[in-house]
Amino acid sequence: MSFKDYIRVIPDFPQPGISFKDITTLLNDGDKYRQAIDELKKMVAHMKIDLIAGPEARGFVVGAPLAYALGVGFVPIRKSGKLPSDTIEIEYDLEYGKDRLAMHSDAIKPGQNVLIADDLLATGGTISTSVQLVKQLGGNIAGAAFLIELADLNGRAKLPGVDIVSLVTY
Ligand code: 5GP
Repeated sequence: MSFKDYIRVIPDFPQPGISFKDITTLLNDGDKYRQAIDELKKMVAHMKIDLIAGPEARGFVVGAPLAYALGVGFVPIRKSGKLPSDTIEIEYDLEYGKDRLAMHSDAIKPGQNVLIADDLLATGGTISTSVQLVKQLGGNIAGAAFLIELADLNGRAKLPGVDIVSLVTY
């Protein structure tokens, strides 16, 4: 069965008109979850990666096992107020309202090559904010890796020049 067969699509969640791609059904299957991470590992094999950074919470579920598989470190990107040491933060627009993403100020050394990982690329707002955080600390963007890409929302347009790989496209 293909990866898509393991992704549950929920109509009208979290609001009418949104077709939510639920990855918990993929995560629930040990073999398929491992296959997904192994496949992403192959898709990023051409990139030079020193570290992976992923936004909470589903970015951890993709980024941390990929970091383990590649033998590189993992940097959590979190909502403002969650990280205990000094942070840099960037405010970004959500569909309704605003949010802030934060990263420890010492998480990335200038010149390190950082892959950004998340479960899903939609409008690209979350990932372009993550890219800005990495760049602010002097990191290079090695690329971005996703389980799912929603092609119609054209998140790629917000990430010019970024090498983007995704396992499944809707
Ligand atoms: P963007 O910032 O690209 O518009 O939205 C991507 C972020 O929203 C990701 O961090 C992702 O976890 C979450 N997201 C948006 N839509 C979906 C969806 O249909 N399924 C899942 N699993 N996450 C979504």
